[in-house]
Amino acid sequence: MLTGRRYPLAFTPEQEEFAERIGDACRVVWNIGLEQRREYRRRGAFIGYVEQARQMAEAKKDFPWLAESPAPALQQTLIDLDRACARHGAFKVRWRSKRKNAPTFRFPDANKITVERVSRRWGRVKLPKLGWTRFRWTRPLGGQIRNATVLKDGGRWYISFIVEDGLVEAAPNGKPPVGVDLGVAHAVTTSSGWMRDREFITPGEAVRLKRLQQQLARQQKGSNRRRATRAKLAKLNARVRARRTDFLAWTANRLTHDHGLVVVEDLNIRNMTASAKGTLAAPGRNVAAKAGLNRAILAKGWGKLLTTLEHKARYNGSQILRVPPAFTSQTCHACGHCAPDNRKSQAVFRCRACGHQDNADVNAAKNILAAGLAVPGCGDLAIRRSVKRQPPKAEAA
Ligand SMILES: [Zn+2]
Repeated sequence: MLTGRRYPLAFTPEQEEFAERIGDACRVVWNIGLEQRREYRRRGAFIGYVEQARQMAEAKKDFPWLAESPAPALQQTLIDLDRACARHGAFKVRWRSKRKNAPTFRFPDANKITVERVSRRWGRVKLPKLGWTRFRWTRPLGGQIRNATVLKDGGRWYISFIVEDGLVEAAPNGKPPVGVDLGVAHAVTTSSGWMRDREFITPGEAVRLKRLQQQLARQQKGSNRRRATRAKLAKLNARVRARRTDFLAWTANRLTHDHGLVVVEDLNIRNMTASAKGTLAAPGRNVAAKAGLNRAILAKGWGKLLTTLEHKARYNGSQILRVPPAFTSQTCHACGHCAPDNRKSQAVFRCRACGHQDNADVNAAKNILAAGLAVPGCGDLAIRRSVKRQPPKAEAA
């Protein structure tokens, strides 16, 4: 199966400068390509990858910044654009801005990538035009390289390989199904009452984040000080993001390892992050309410949790089922009574109709599981096996 491996790169100053320029070139190619596609659409015409790639190759004669960049990376940008436009339409695909989109470029051809281990801690990779670059060997590659992406994250450069690890998809593990709720009191709560929490941002970091944001708001656009503040913010955000990624990988692995079916809400991520609690970029007024900020950070990773779950499920013999969110936090799991005042507090659920009381997040997770089991046509999933063979008691892990 295909899996990702990311390593910190140790560019020389020249390489770093060059990588920035390649990133710029790919971004510009994306934007020009997108504008060209829109222009064609406006005229009722169409331009595809093949023609755009041909024109780009021609433009290299006139533009040194284009000619100096590795051709596979530029072509890959046009391929990505082609896919994005096919999927969302040329007018919905977004521009890439220098400020908002960190540089990233991909080398799709494994034959042009050479990786060597030079010592216990260091490896090196040879990439088209960039040449040999050292990277920290933080974990084994564990397979055949398929492609490589160079990216900048939080002010640091990384290389990410997609490798074929030679493993085959696991057979259904036959374990009991579970519902998962993204909670307030706990980051992740399951229908069996398992809870897992993690602070993504420390109180000190929350204060610092706010101060940096205020600083940024005061500073003049284009100034050096503003750029420095931005770099500090990026570094802080990267640290928070890394903690979240770590948490999500751990959680996804545990959930899919212990369960044959994991039911999650297919949340509209944009709606969630725009909650009253604020977002990571603009947290609610009261930073002391760190639960809110923490939740906002987790909410931003919800989409990532879904993809991580699906990835881990294939290794652990589990299935992921997404159900549309529908009042899961207000509905009584015991009698089905649904009312906003069912929720006694953030943590406790008490039904106004039947008096059923439960942890609010567990109640929600149970509803999510029920919604998943009610989905018609999913009888062929692991549920049928697991539900019928194993009594509910077995679920308490
Ligand atoms: Zn009830």
